[in-house]
Amino acid sequence: LGGGISRALAQMRDATVIDEKVLTDCLHEIARALLQADVHIKMVSDMRSNIRRIVNLEALAAGINKRRIIQQAVFAELCKMLDPGKPSFVPTKGKLSVVMFVGLQGSGKTTTCTKYARYHQRKGFKPSLVCADTFRAGAFDQLKQNATKANIPYYGSYMESDPVKIAVEGVERFRKENSDLIIVDTSGRHKQEAALIEEMRQVAEATKPDLVIFVMDGSIGQAAFDQAQAFKQSASVGAVIVTKLDGHAKGGGALSAVAATKSPVIFIGTGEHIDDIEVFEVKPFVSRLLGMGDLSLVKKFHDVVPVDQQSELMQKLTEGTFTLRLFYELLQNLINMGPIGQVLSMLPGFSSELMPKGHDKESQAKIKRYMTIMDSMTNAELDSTNPKLMSESRISRIARGSGRAVKDVMDMLEEYKRIAKAFSKFKNMDKVPKRNNKIL
Ligand code: GDP
Ligand code: MG
Repeated sequence: LGGGISRALAQMRDATVIDEKVLTDCLHEIARALLQADVHIKMVSDMRSNIRRIVNLEALAAGINKRRIIQQAVFAELCKMLDPGKPSFVPTKGKLSVVMFVGLQGSGKTTTCTKYARYHQRKGFKPSLVCADTFRAGAFDQLKQNATKANIPYYGSYMESDPVKIAVEGVERFRKENSDLIIVDTSGRHKQEAALIEEMRQVAEATKPDLVIFVMDGSIGQAAFDQAQAFKQSASVGAVIVTKLDGHAKGGGALSAVAATKSPVIFIGTGEHIDDIEVFEVKPFVSRLLGMGDLSLVKKFHDVVPVDQQSELMQKLTEGTFTLRLFYELLQNLINMGPIGQVLSMLPGFSSELMPKGHDKESQAKIKRYMTIMDSMTNAELDSTNPKLMSESRISRIARGSGRAVKDVMDMLEEYKRIAKAFSKFKNMDKVPKRNNKIL
């Protein structure tokens, strides 16, 4: 999608006179790109007529930058489509909240429940998980496994087949244990069957959730609107989480979900790992849709990195190949509290894993350990972009050379992969349109 809209806007930038035809062509191109990104067809046509209404070329006084006005109008219109006008319920630490997850089977409910729990656990909440999915064999095992890994108390049953009973018992148990965030995972089955809808209604009635979160697979295409609407009609959905935005999904379904549920997107899922969850922010999301890169990250970069160091760093980061050598340099910078260290600490999932308690001794020791391990690598290994290069024999050689266990080397490589993924966001950073050195 990015390509399409950026191209459309770029063409517009190149045109010397912005007349009716240029605007029409541009809107056509944008509409096509939005449809390709799974934005609902009705929303695309609404957006088109809104832009036409807002951008009255004739009425614009001479000398005003018309291109910029069109560009801003497109950006603003997409932002508006993602804003339902009212914020969602936000849990408060120390005060009991019950949050129920709904969505079709396979949308990512169980995975997202744990991510959501862990996110709040890091913020000091006492979350707990209740498995009210008695439909799917293995549902309880899956939740149990996730919860155990994240050290979050859970409740469920292999024997009981009534989801309402389990939900009530679970909520009761954790209320007594002073949990302040009880998360209820529900069953999904396949389609928007009447039985599923009725089950959801009963679980909601019995547990009286403060918030119902609709979980939607980001890759379901034009089906997003109808699916979101079906859930809205049967449960009082108050927020949306869109999952699987790490894959090929372009994310346009998020606009449909907001329109259909009249609720905001609060998080996005960006992978299968427990920390692959990001707080949803409208402007960076739209800027990504428009192919302008991750605006918030870019803004932070410009805020904290001194101007004279920006271009060198930028070049390395935007080259798109995140080698172990670059990882080494970043860690060095992190330890010295250099500017890039500050940028790193703002990456979702970065600081929380590498420096869970800030710059304490433990985190510093871990980073130094990683660096010691890399000191035993060859140049070829440090500069390689081929993940297959790290064979078992190489790993044991590196372990021996650095006096560490094989597991330590594996841990370091695991961390490297995770961070390389986070850094893929920087790739298009240099393409962000800038004016007078200020991000649009
Ligand atoms: P549920 O049936 O709604 O509970 O869905 P699950 O939580 O069991 O997830 C279904 C599948 O989607 C699992 O294989 C998850 O690992 C995967 N999944 C969930 N969220 C994400 C995500 O954000 N990104 C990716 N790549 N996979 C995800
Ligand atoms: Mg599930």
